[in-house]
Parts: sequence; structure tokens; C-alpha cells
Amino acid sequence: MKSQRIVVVGGGVVGAFCAWYLQKSGHQVTIVEAKKFGSGCSHANCGYVCPSHVLPLTAPGVIAKTMRAMLRPNSPFSIRPRFSWDLWRWLANFALRCNHRGMMDAAPTIHQLLQSSLSLYEQVLREEKLEVQWERRGLLFVYQNHHHFEAYHDVDKLISEQFGVSAVAYPGEAVRELEPALKSGLAGGWHYPGDCHLRPDLLMRQLRGLLERSGVKIVENAEVTDMQRRGSRAEAVLTSAGEFAADQFVFATGAWTPLLQQALGFRVPIEPGKGYSITTTLPPVVPKIPLILEEHSVAITPFHDGYRIGSTMEFAGYDSRMNPQRLELLRSGARLYLDEPYTDQVQEEWYGWRPMTWDGKPVVDRTPSMANTWIAAGHNMLGLSMAPATGKLLAELINDEVPHINPQPLSLRRLGIV
Ligand SMILES: Cc1cc2nc3c(=O)[nH]c(=O)nc-3n(C[C@H](O)[C@H](O)[C@H](O)COP(=O)(O)OP(=O)(O)OC[C@H]3O[C@@H](n4cnc5c(N)ncnc54)[C@H](O)[C@@H]3O)c2cc1C
Repeated sequence: MKSQRIVVVGGGVVGAFCAWYLQKSGHQVTIVEAKKFGSGCSHANCGYVCPSHVLPLTAPGVIAKTMRAMLRPNSPFSIRPRFSWDLWRWLANFALRCNHRGMMDAAPTIHQLLQSSLSLYEQVLREEKLEVQWERRGLLFVYQNHHHFEAYHDVDKLISEQFGVSAVAYPGEAVRELEPALKSGLAGGWHYPGDCHLRPDLLMRQLRGLLERSGVKIVENAEVTDMQRRGSRAEAVLTSAGEFAADQFVFATGAWTPLLQQALGFRVPIEPGKGYSITTTLPPVVPKIPLILEEHSVAITPFHDGYRIGSTMEFAGYDSRMNPQRLELLRSGARLYLDEPYTDQVQEEWYGWRPMTWDGKPVVDRTPSMANTWIAAGHNMLGLSMAPATGKLLAELINDEVPHINPQPLSLRRLGIV
């Protein structure tokens, strides 16, 4: 196979793994990043690599549940009302899929991406000796409410029967025996022992080193604004730091992808789903297992040298303000489940824009506008968990190899782009 010059636009976890698998297969890769490598949504997310998250958000009953939650003054979900045809179209398409069929349409592909990524992580971390605070302690979904705890039984049964991913139930005080950092009096928890976690900023630093050692060039502070074309092919990306010519182009631009309409020639329907995290020093009693505090949608991740509380989901466009109320929601949620919920020594307060598609699946496809331009974006709440398989799949498609995952459900066509 002939070695090609490939430009990957976007230095997040998805762009990094695309670059890795492309370079490994013999190409000369350059990453072109608008800001700093790893500074986007891949920086301070919760760090879960979680095959348990097979089911997309588009589940039966989600609309009613979300509406009820949004009526609460301090809901973790919020939609800032604004006149945006793109947002309302996105919401309508999302709502249409909130049923068993919509959920089960996306789940098999998500499952394949999650399973493949987990084994690829284990392989890359082992073979390349990357230290990213990788742990396999599972993920514990914790419930305050007995009815909610019991109701999860049906979801566990479905995931277990359809995909072979099972949780262990810990009712009542048994959940505190499993995880003594929890308060007493909780309804119980479901533990997925196969889930893993890592420290995302460390992963991005280690990936940067790996890529540079293997010959990938990383150009920062170069925002792509347009493309130079000849016929049905792109010749170069035009950036704030000059032009970069190549044979193939990959856009791994996460939540920013729709803003590249001018360059791509069409708009990818991705909405930014804003989430927050707070990283503190380790509290006196540190949970051993990463936790999802279910009724408050708060995630807790213990690292070796820090401790993160994260989550919330806000559809507020590209709003880049830090909202102290959203951060307080994370703290107040954590206080309800943990005796030592956090410390006051804050290492970082952060927000990120999740690249949300209306069906929960990412896009990994060639563009209809240019034969040598590809998209790898829209990984929703699971970009860290799905990045290695995305990178491998994209390299297989560019190299014209048999793909290890069927790419058809990840097409642009399904989103109405032909
Ligand atoms: C609070 C929170 C918790 C999360 N927890 C988890 C978790 O536990 N597990 C999990 O799997 N996922 C999690 N996620 C989701 C995950 O973080 C994202 O899905 C993932 O980071 C997306 O990666 P990406 O590479 O597509 O995007 P990004 O990391 O956002 O990278 C895109 C890059 O493209 C660059 N870019 C954009 N436009 C241009 C341009 N015009 N020119 C050049 N460069 C450009 C940006 O600067 C950015 O660096 C979480 C998200 C949030 C907000």
C-alpha cells in the first residue's frame, strides 16, 4: 500500500487515535489543532472506559423523564431556549428515536465500538508502556430510591441477554460493604465489574508523546477555516497558521464539526452537550470504585493523584461561560451519597462540549462532497470509551481493508447527508 500524506484536523482523543492507527499503517500524519492538543472535551472528562454504557440516551420514557427533571429548579439536564432551527431539528429527531426500536437500533454498534476499544486500550497501553492510571475496578451505579434500584433489574436483564454485559446487584447496606465510602441508608447499587477508568489529561499527554515518537507532526494554534479543492478532491486545509496540503483529510473536530460547514460543504447535525467537572485533591475517604450517583446524574472518579466529580448536560449552544450553579449541582449531588464527598482544595474546574448526535452513534464516514475527506466525530458521552476502535476503523476504511466493525450504521447518510 502506498504511503500517503494525511492531515487529521482536531487533537482530541478521537483525532489522536485516528492519527495513531494511520501512522502505524505506514502513512505520514499531521495533526492540525485550533488550540492546544488535548484541550477540548477530551481534557477533564470522567475517564470511564465503560462497556456497560451499551444503551444510547434514546431510551423509552426518556422524554417524559427529562421533562420532569427539567421542571426541578436544579436539574442536571437543561435546554437553554433559543431560536435555532438546527437545535429544534436535532431535538425532534432525538425525540423520534426515544423508543425501544430507536434504542436497539444504535445499541449493537455502540457495543461493538466499546468492546473493541476496551481491548485496543489494553493492547496499546501494554505494548507502548503508557502510564495513564489505568484501573479495572468496574463502575458502580448507586441509587437512593428503592423503586429506581429495583427498576434497573429490567435494564440489566436486557443488556445481559442481548450483549452479554452483566451487572451484580448490591441491595441496601450490601452496597456500602462493597464501597465503604458511600453513606448508609442508600437503596443499593449495580456493579459492572468489566468497566475501567483512566486519567484523561494524562492519557492525552501520553498519546502526544507516543504520536511524536512515531513520527506524527502536531501543529497547534492552527484553526481550519476552509479547504482548497480541485474537482471532487481536497488539496489542502486552510488554517489561521497557513495551508497544509495532503492526500487525505480527516475531521475529528468533536462538537465543533458543524462549525466547519464552509470547509466541508455541508453541516453535520451535532449539538454541543455541555458538561462540567471539578477535580480536587483526594478526600480522606476515597471511593475505591468509580461511581454514578444515578438520581442526580453525578459521576465520581478516583485517580491516583486527584478526584473528580463530573457530569450534567446542558444544551446551550457554544456557550463558553463557567456557570457556578452547574458546579454546585455536582457538589450537592455528591454530598447526598458520600460521607466525604470532595475536598476544598480544587485542582481544576472545567467544562467540555460533548459532541451529541440525535441517535447516539458517532459518524465515521467519507464525505459526499470530497472523495478524500473523512469525518470521525459525534461520540456523544462516550468519546473516550470509543476512540481507539474509531481510529482503527477509520484507518481500515482509508486503507481499503476489511473493517473490523460494520461502518454502515456510522454513515453520514443516516443523518440525512448524501
Ligand atoms: C463532563 C464530561 C464527562 C465525560 N465523561 C466521559 C467518560 O467518562 N467516558 C467517555 O467515554 N466519555 C466521556 N465524556 C465524553 C468525551 O469527553 C467526548 O466524547 C470526547 O472527549 C470527544 O472527543 P473528540 O476527540 O471527538 O473531541 P475533543 O476532545 O473536543 O477534540 C476536538 C478537537 O478539535 C479541535 N478543533 C475544533 N475545530 C477545529 C478547527 N476548525 N481547526 C482545528 N481544530 C479544531 C478542538 O480544538 C479540539 O481540540 C465526557 C464529557 C464530559 C463533558
